[in-house]
Amino acid sequence: MTLPQDYAPIIALFIAIPVVACALYLLAGWLLGRQRRACPACAQKEVRCVQWIRATVLIDGRRAPDSWCYYLCDACGARFKQHLGKDYEVPSDEEWEAQCSEAIKR
Ligand SMILES: [Zn+2]
Repeated sequence: MTLPQDYAPIIALFIAIPVVACALYLLAGWLLGRQRRACPACAQKEVRCVQWIRATVLIDGRRAPDSWCYYLCDACGARFKQHLGKDYEVPSDEEWEAQCSEAIKR
């Protein structure tokens, strides 16, 4: 006959695994959020994403995913825009204000 206390290690395992998985998920998110890129202007590794925009576009009548990201260098203040992972572009002041001014305040 098995006693309830015999199940204690199994029950502890069923509780510990989700707790550890949750902690690893939060740690990975925190580490990715702190990740910085090298700045094309000053070469410092201080470029952070300040705004990420995801959209759906129509190409030849078919829906396709589209996204672009705005970056700010905390070392030199340079601003960049990257569309679908291509090379950096420099956004206009008007575009930066429209897309990023509220996101930076958060
Ligand atoms: Zn820079």
